[in-house]
Amino acid sequence: MSGKVTLVGAGPGDPGLLTVKGLRALEQADVVVYDRLVSPAVLERIPAAARRIDVGKEASRHPVPQHQINRILLEEAQAGHNVVRLKGGDPFVFGRGGEELQALAREGVEFAEIPGITSAIAAAAYGGIPVTHRDCASSLHIITGHAREGAELNIDFEALVQTRGTLVFLMGVTALPVIVEGLLEAGMDPDMPAAMVEQGTLPSQRRCGAALKALPDRAAEMGIRSPALMIVGRVCALAEKLCWFERLPLHGKRILVTRPGDRAGSLSEKLWDLGADVVEFPCIRTEAVFPCPAMEGALEQLSAYEWLGFTSAAGVEAFWTCLRGMGKDARALGGVKLAAIGPATGRALEARGVTADLIPEIYDAAHMGEALVKAAEGKVLLLRAEEGSPALTDALSAAGVPYDDIAVYRTIYDNPRSQELREALEAGGFDYVTFTSASTVKGFVSAVGGDADFSRFTGLCIGKQTAGEAEKHHISVKTAGKAAIDALVELALEK
Ligand code: SAH
Repeated sequence: MSGKVTLVGAGPGDPGLLTVKGLRALEQADVVVYDRLVSPAVLERIPAAARRIDVGKEASRHPVPQHQINRILLEEAQAGHNVVRLKGGDPFVFGRGGEELQALAREGVEFAEIPGITSAIAAAAYGGIPVTHRDCASSLHIITGHAREGAELNIDFEALVQTRGTLVFLMGVTALPVIVEGLLEAGMDPDMPAAMVEQGTLPSQRRCGAALKALPDRAAEMGIRSPALMIVGRVCALAEKLCWFERLPLHGKRILVTRPGDRAGSLSEKLWDLGADVVEFPCIRTEAVFPCPAMEGALEQLSAYEWLGFTSAAGVEAFWTCLRGMGKDARALGGVKLAAIGPATGRALEARGVTADLIPEIYDAAHMGEALVKAAEGKVLLLRAEEGSPALTDALSAAGVPYDDIAVYRTIYDNPRSQELREALEAGGFDYVTFTSASTVKGFVSAVGGDADFSRFTGLCIGKQTAGEAEKHHISVKTAGKAAIDALVELALEK
């Protein structure tokens, strides 16, 4: 059976600006063919099982020629694959999307197009420039500043000046002086507000604003480079007041998030929304102990326990998988009470339709132990990591509370991307590295090597045990008292 090609607009860079439909298509792709302008944060969303074809490699300065891209799309679809052709911004705005679909149409291959948010509007918006405004611009014109090989720029500057609208030039960095000269010669006011936005919507975004006549010098001073767009029009004067993005509290900060991949989402997204340049690098992963006869045995006689204690979402997940595997569901819990170490673990329970009866005031193993000692009259069942903190069991033992402590998942430290992380650390490093458990510290140190330079960043740690582990490696730390993601975000925001 023949496959299909879906042309997807990846948006201008901020992964949050990929459309819901585009993301859905990406998640179902067998093969993803992408360009240079698709941001790494969007590429992260490509499923691990999908094959990636990079047709925009710039290293050799020879991106794959268009006819060859067309052929790749055709062949992959004809081989029966579900192909996503991912393009920066919107595929039909100077993205040759039309040409690619024509080639597929000629061969009778099934295709669809999912529009993206174009940089022409979004990079301006993140630069504080609304492309239209009732007071000063009633039309918007998007123009290419790139000439076909060997040809001169073919722009009707007089017509553009007469529109009195907002002009947005894409691919115009090299031709900037020529474009400005053209506009001035066609009679545009030399003091017309203008701007360049480089790497728009990304944490590395830079903006330069100047009167039209001064823009080329100003852009050269700042060393503005592609990808950047040029905006000309009275709306540019609003940028100083409206440049919300550059004012985000973590703008310009580079933060490494070391949580395991499937649980990094909320932390990374929060930091990203505060303007940080977030690099996700899961330093550990967890693996359920499977099969787990000890847990199965305990679940057979669940009513022997008064309390069931969980110290992480991974533990809840392992428990539920085991329960379901035994053909049981939440009803098997009967009257057993549930303890969770903190709100995230509590939410993992909520997601399964049950509510924690106990969450300690301070979210760590020692406080969970104390809370259980106060509450427990019968036996406690702990389902947690192989290397779970002894602080919890010590508290129960000291008070004579009977318990079973079963290892239901383990932490894995091997990391195929260690070299990449090491290089990133050496290259410029990070302002902050987040550690959500002692094991993430161990995983980080083992990935970059114990001899790496740990003096160039501050570790943001959840809990004393995590901070203690980081200090062993002479990492300077800030510690969140509460084991909650929001407390970690607060630390990043502290001056
Ligand atoms: N289809 C894309 C445009 C492709 S042409 C879109 O809709 O956005 C490539 C040009 O787009 C670049 O030379 C630059 O001018 C502009 N561009 C793309 N991404 C950009 C970004 N994040 N910030 C600023 N300009 C960008």
